[in-house]
Amino acid sequence: MKRILLLGGVTEALAIARTLGPEHIYSLAGIGRVPTDLDCQVRVGGYGGAEGLAAFIRAEGIGLLIDATHPYAAQISHNAATAARMTGIGCWALRRPAWAPQPGDDWREVADWTELTRALAPFQRPLFTLGREPLQHLQEIPAQQFWTLRALETVPGNEHCEVIGARGPFNLEDERALFERRQIDVLVSKNSGSGATEPKLQVARERGIPVLILKRPALAAVTRSFDSTQALLQALVP
Ligand code: NAP
Repeated sequence: MKRILLLGGVTEALAIARTLGPEHIYSLAGIGRVPTDLDCQVRVGGYGGAEGLAAFIRAEGIGLLIDATHPYAAQISHNAATAARMTGIGCWALRRPAWAPQPGDDWREVADWTELTRALAPFQRPLFTLGREPLQHLQEIPAQQFWTLRALETVPGNEHCEVIGARGPFNLEDERALFERRQIDVLVSKNSGSGATEPKLQVARERGIPVLILKRPALAAVTRSFDSTQALLQALVP
């Protein structure tokens, strides 16, 4: 089997990493937890762009690159496709299917922060589940709004924002309680497509509140694309 460099950072990537033997490498950016119980090697930290990644691929004799990063991690996905082209190896990608609204859902897609701010104007108590980006905008919160912001770590908010540090998976009961306790009137979310964070959409549905969805970034073309971990693992079987 070719030596694999697996770019990860999400649940499915870890599941793939668990199947890899000691000659392969699981690669993490270093912002989340680093597993210590894998047979394969674990590498933490960036490469210095596509050229750095290509140099690593050559130096380590990597024969196949697998991009199993988050659908909004557009930079590393672009770097992966470019580095694979530069080194002449295959780049396979696990591309999670996006969530789709159900009948009656009020989902409003926004392209960027400017559109999001505009779409948020009629609401008072948004729940942000976008990661850390909203933290850069705490000084811009309108007087009539109070934000609840969920991120991986608890960090200070301000008088118009409370930051909750929490890691998924999130269950339906806890999500219901969160929306009720904070009287959430709009949910702000990426379209991650992950089952681990999907219950919040069900709660928005039950409460009849809108969901502002940040549009998925366009990702570079790759050699092969898979929509499930299982399909990718089957393709790896010699
Ligand atoms: P990004 O903007 O696409 O990447 C920024 C830089 O981080 C890359 O250019 C690369 O640095 C480094 N990097 C990213 N993933 C890496 C990996 N698996 N191994 C080694 N270096 C990596 O990514 P991001 O949105 O900041 O996400 C960072 C990581 O968190 C990703 O691995 C992603 O799978 C995971 N994650 C992201 C989200 C999200 O919402 N974006 C959610 C859950 C998990 P160099 O250019 O120096 O190589």
